[in-house]
Amino acid sequence: MAKRDYYEVLGVSKGASAEEIKKAYRAKAKELHPDRNADKPDAEAKFKEVNEAYDVLKDADKKAAYDRFGHAAFDGGMAGGARAGGFGGAPGQGDFASAFSDVFEDLFGDFMGGQRGGARRGRATRGSDLRYNLSIGLEDAYSGLQKQITVPTAVACGACSGTGSEGGSEPVTCPTCSGMGKVRAQQGFFTVERTCPTCSGVGQIVKNPCKTCAGAGRVQKDRALSVNIPAGVETGTRIRLSGEGEAGLRGGPAGDLYIFIEVADHPLFQRDGMDLYCRVPVPMTRAALGGEVEVPTIDGGRSRVKVPEGSQSGRQMRLRGKGMPALRGSGIGDMYIELAVETPVKLNAEQKELLRRFEESCAKSNNPDASGFFDKVRKFWDDLAK
Ligand SMILES: [Zn+2]
Ligand SMILES: [Zn+2]
Repeated sequence: MAKRDYYEVLGVSKGASAEEIKKAYRAKAKELHPDRNADKPDAEAKFKEVNEAYDVLKDADKKAAYDRFGHAAFDGGMAGGARAGGFGGAPGQGDFASAFSDVFEDLFGDFMGGQRGGARRGRATRGSDLRYNLSIGLEDAYSGLQKQITVPTAVACGACSGTGSEGGSEPVTCPTCSGMGKVRAQQGFFTVERTCPTCSGVGQIVKNPCKTCAGAGRVQKDRALSVNIPAGVETGTRIRLSGEGEAGLRGGPAGDLYIFIEVADHPLFQRDGMDLYCRVPVPMTRAALGGEVEVPTIDGGRSRVKVPEGSQSGRQMRLRGKGMPALRGSGIGDMYIELAVETPVKLNAEQKELLRRFEESCAKSNNPDASGFFDKVRKFWDDLAK
């Protein structure tokens, strides 16, 4: 099959500027990157085609040669799959990706997750940060707590003190790459760099790898930690434990451990920042006559709240200082009580008779407030009829 025109591959015109070419390449490479197209078998071939086109068009000299001679300018290079030196036949995806890693680091940075960045070079590598999701109750968020957790993580290998070498001997510079972590390969008239196959990019090798950790300098282990959860945390609060993440590679510094807090829903209290809301049932008679209700509080105690005479369902009352504490600084929120007036059910004959007499009394009353109980109902139907 004939090779496609490089300008056509990138979707730009012959007169496109270097900036336009770069932009077109970025968009295409992102779209076709094999990491994102594992399910599309032809994506890798298209991705290669795009990279090949960009490799030529981004370079003023190569672009000029291509503009004059077309693909013939590079015969014996990448064309036709006849690969010279370095690759040793068709590369697997890993080799392939690293061959273009320079371009990618240059253009994308975080898109590649930084995995192919310079961090692997040199002997010591910082350990990964770890995330631990911790769900706690609202009472615990109110009081704060000391929590024992178990974190499966990589810790420094005890047998080799984290060096990765049997008997603790120092690693030596990799002979293949002279410690660079990368090797260069000539391919047509391109030079490509790829990760050193001997040391996997670390730059050093361990002559006698530790038998316990196979030379990594760290082993997997469950680690018990005691974490101090301060009062006032809420869902989404992050607690960073410096140096409690994964151990570094070959004696590198450890990563951090992040505790992500989730505060579970509470059956009684709803939280809004530092304030709490609680719906409290109150008997119809007490709401009418006035009195007190007892309410639970988040500290495990009880408070008595005055119910004013003639309270309607939904009436809110504030209990100062019975909310949640501030996570940083001082202060405490309030608790809001919402009355839910309960209608009596399953009345006996006497109770029904009393309520009937009560109803008659209200209807006959000249006091508009007392009869308002029925007036409101009447007004509802009157308004509807208008
Ligand atoms: Zn090497
Ligand atoms: Zn070891």
